[in-house]
Amino acid sequence: MRRSYKFLLRPAVGQQGALVAMLADHCDLYNAALQERRDAWRHSSKTTVRYGDQSAQLKGVRAVVPEQARWSFSSQQATLRRLNKAFEAFFRRVKSGDTPGYPRFRSRARFDTVEFPKDGDGCRWDSTPRDGATRVRLQGVGHVRVHQHRPVRGRVKTVSVKRQGRKWFVVLSCDDVPPELAKNRTKKHRQAVRRVAKLHAKIRRQRLDHAHKTANFVVRDADVIAHERLDIANMTRRPKRRPGEDGTFEPNGAAAKAGLNRAILDAGWGVFLAVLTAEAECAGRRLIAVDPRNTSRTCPLCGHVSAQNRDGEGFKCTACGLIEHADTVGALNTAIRAGLALCAAT
Ligand SMILES: [Zn+2]
Repeated sequence: MRRSYKFLLRPAVGQQGALVAMLADHCDLYNAALQERRDAWRHSSKTTVRYGDQSAQLKGVRAVVPEQARWSFSSQQATLRRLNKAFEAFFRRVKSGDTPGYPRFRSRARFDTVEFPKDGDGCRWDSTPRDGATRVRLQGVGHVRVHQHRPVRGRVKTVSVKRQGRKWFVVLSCDDVPPELAKNRTKKHRQAVRRVAKLHAKIRRQRLDHAHKTANFVVRDADVIAHERLDIANMTRRPKRRPGEDGTFEPNGAAAKAGLNRAILDAGWGVFLAVLTAEAECAGRRLIAVDPRNTSRTCPLCGHVSAQNRDGEGFKCTACGLIEHADTVGALNTAIRAGLALCAAT
């Protein structure tokens, strides 16, 4: 079965210029070929220029127009075929008595695709990544880096380069793609994917809202704000699953809501800190990050450090007997460390 893959291109600055020039020259070729067909048609409505004629002239054109000679012969042929398709559609409309609409000239700004009909001819999909990046080689442009976000299956048949807004993409059309993967994608699956994406967007909004409210609250009340330095390993650890829950979003509202709340809570320390940093800066508050090691195992009163100090959410110092909530202890230790840092700084 046939399938297309679309990947973002990451051209270097020089390559970007070459890509723009490639599109522009293919556009010029398209327009020149259209002009020729128009002139012939106007001269005598019995004279028609066909794709074969124009393709045969291509060699001559490349010999006298050096700009055109830079690009792939095959991609230029593909451009002429595109024009031919436009004419075939035009003739079909004339024949059927529809409003014909003669093929139009294209502006460079809106000519956005160059097609290479065969991998290896004017272009080469290079599936073996070098220094971490896949590349596609384009004649006249060079080896352009590709953001290949999924594996390519099957055999690459055609390669297209597209401009969309300010971004560049490569589209691979592949043959002999094993069908298993595509077969699974039922309507239900697509619906589920949409539903999850919607939920995630909602979580993102709620997380951000929550971060702003909390940051505001903290910044309003404090001149100096201390927090534990972020530990990436802790941040990326997945939340523990609770017994009896499989972690999926169930269609009944309760389970979905529980999942949502959990996602908001386990959330986004990175997001919150970014928001907090911005708001603290805005309000002229001081933000201090402290070493997070043992903040919840150290006694804030006597300084005794032991894992035995902790009992779940409770804290009981095995040396001096201080009893507190573990979160309070953690906050106190963070404040103490920030205070020490401030003293050391002044
Ligand atoms: Zn103690």
